[in-house]
Amino acid sequence: MSATDKTASADGRAVVTRFAPSPTGFLHIGGARTALFNLLYARHHGGTFRLRIEDTDRARSTQPAIDAILSGMRWLGLDWDGEEVYQFARADRHAAVAQTMVAHGHAYRCYLTQEELDAMRAAAQAAKQPLRIRSPWRDRTDYPADKPYVVRLRAPNEGAVTIEDRVQGSVTVQNAELDDLVLLRSDGTPTYMLAVVVDDHDMGVTHVIRGDDHLNNAFRQLPIYRAMDAIEGGWPDPVYAHIPLIHGSDGAKLSKRHGAVGIEAYRDELGILPEALDNYLLRLGWGHGDAEIISRDEATAWFDLSGVGKSPSRFDLKKLENLNGHYIRAADDARLADLVAERLGFDHDDTRRSILRTAMPALKPRAANLNELTEASGFLFAARPLSVEEAAQPLLAGEAPALLSRLHTALDAVHNWDTETTEAVVRSVAEDAGVKLGQVAQPLRVALTGRKTSPGIFDVLVLLGRAESLARIADHMTPTGA
Ligand code: GLU
Repeated sequence: MSATDKTASADGRAVVTRFAPSPTGFLHIGGARTALFNLLYARHHGGTFRLRIEDTDRARSTQPAIDAILSGMRWLGLDWDGEEVYQFARADRHAAVAQTMVAHGHAYRCYLTQEELDAMRAAAQAAKQPLRIRSPWRDRTDYPADKPYVVRLRAPNEGAVTIEDRVQGSVTVQNAELDDLVLLRSDGTPTYMLAVVVDDHDMGVTHVIRGDDHLNNAFRQLPIYRAMDAIEGGWPDPVYAHIPLIHGSDGAKLSKRHGAVGIEAYRDELGILPEALDNYLLRLGWGHGDAEIISRDEATAWFDLSGVGKSPSRFDLKKLENLNGHYIRAADDARLADLVAERLGFDHDDTRRSILRTAMPALKPRAANLNELTEASGFLFAARPLSVEEAAQPLLAGEAPALLSRLHTALDAVHNWDTETTEAVVRSVAEDAGVKLGQVAQPLRVALTGRKTSPGIFDVLVLLGRAESLARIADHMTPTGA
């Protein structure tokens, strides 16, 4: 099969993809998209999606930092297959591969001292040449005893490496431009380049789909595959797909100054639903005709690397919120009620949860995120007298108290407390007073909710119930006898 084959791995093996984050304290939004693409590619091809935690930076790889990745992935439904692999625990295996490469002449022990390396660097600088290390130890075998050494790859001097990248196209680098890169440090620990290759091989990874900031690394990693393939066979090149990074609205690589980059901020602070974020991330850099709202099943059926664009996409919070509004409207009322109850701090209060559930069909059409939904739900549980938002206060002035008095009298006579009956009564009060419906409905809304916007006013009356509605109206009407 050719490297441009669209359906399977280069050698016909079942597809295995992976997501390989380094713990940083959160799941980066770009990482989440990489994971999603890997998941969808694997699922589309009936393959396997693995997770590897690249925890070799011991200072950063704390349990909370790892948990942030795992919980973020679970929240987004990025369900990986099998147990996650921890890279640090595999250091002995990485070292063993490096020693195998030394034994077969594909790598060598390098005893260059720091001073010698510094001198090489200075010479390269003086000659205005990039530093490309070809150590004199490359061709020596008179290894000194008891001296520290690093293990370096014996990089090919001649020829070039071409990668048929599924996103970037055909990319070639001359071997002469590549370093004899370090595989094992002098303390025997593996470098990132070595660990990634050994782990991908051992996990059976056929397709490496990752950010295009790693494209340069692919040219350093391939010689390791090729050396091991020459030594023991069974180390075929993976298929590479380097996807463009996400940029901010100004076109620069997405970073903290553009706003949130960790997915938990989208969940906790911005009130985004996971399916909305998934859908948004999918569309960010991948397309299928004009489709915007794409379910996970559709995404699995449609996803392929040929739909991934080559140029970076810009993150657009407004678009994400539009999608989120769609998914809020589509979401189950009980689920939304639970999410709002949690935000209001009474997730253990079943009575209030069921009130929220009843109110949800009226509340959810207006909300772009869970914060708005929570804010809009607040009136249901507000204590009297309600605090009225500043923008709504003028609506309670002028004729409003008198109109509310008339409404109170009329509604007080209603016992059939449903939307049809209350609507008929409110309309007739407006007619009798010779004013438009809005002139009665707006003060009524403010009296009942403290806000200028709310669900339909007759729904609000029913949601609050007769006694509470009448009491809230009474709080703002002309005092009896005035
Ligand atoms: N651990 C690397 C990162 O978080 C990814 C390595 C890879 O995908 O090959 O950027």
